[in-house]
Amino acid sequence: VFILIILALFSILIYRTRKHKLHFQYMANHDGLTGLYNRNCILNKLDDIFQDSKNLKFEFNIVMVDLDHFKKINDTFGHSTGDQVLKKIATVFNNNLDEKDLCGRIGGEEFLLIMPYVNLNQAIKKLEKIKIKTTEISHSINLNDLVTSFSAGILNIQNPSTLNKIEEIIKQADDALYKAKSKGRNTIVIA
Ligand code: GH3
Ligand code: MG
Ligand code: MG
Repeated sequence: VFILIILALFSILIYRTRKHKLHFQYMANHDGLTGLYNRNCILNKLDDIFQDSKNLKFEFNIVMVDLDHFKKINDTFGHSTGDQVLKKIATVFNNNLDEKDLCGRIGGEEFLLIMPYVNLNQAIKKLEKIKIKTTEISHSINLNDLVTSFSAGILNIQNPSTLNKIEEIIKQADDALYKAKSKGRNTIVIA
């Protein structure tokens, strides 16, 4: 009986240690508010995909997303409403992306999506759907005349060996996002 008790206690200890480890791993890789991958994690994942696509020769797409006039939502309805919007957008991403797609919060109201193994048209189709669902958030939580929309820059990478740095692809997607903003927002620009 004594040995059984010791074994049981030992098993509980191992179980709890493992649970704590998983919890800390989760916390290290995810954003506390949205549950999406955090900046560090999504950039590491992008690096992995970038290297894999060079070796295995598959195409992938990256999307830089920035919410439009988000400050106005905070200023008008308060920070907690802004937080609520961020959480709902994360849900829209999770519900409309495919299993192999990746999504992370890289800054306050900025996100990076990665869509591997699909061509540009397929990626845009998915993104358009996400864009529509995002504007619908403002109907579900009454924001009066304010609309929850985003601007996005999308880049398709077919032959990564010609591009040698991850910073280059991020910059190209970022530049396209900047163009989407200057075009009047709530729009997607192809890099
Ligand atoms: P633009 O269309 O040019 O992107 O305008 P914007 O208002 O979205 O951009 P700006 O950079 O002026 O403001 C971003 C705002 O996002 C300001 C900041 O307070 C807010 N923000 C960043 N992180 C959070 C957060 O975690 N929660 C909330 N509620 N707001 C946040
Ligand atoms: Mg921003
Ligand atoms: Mg913004």
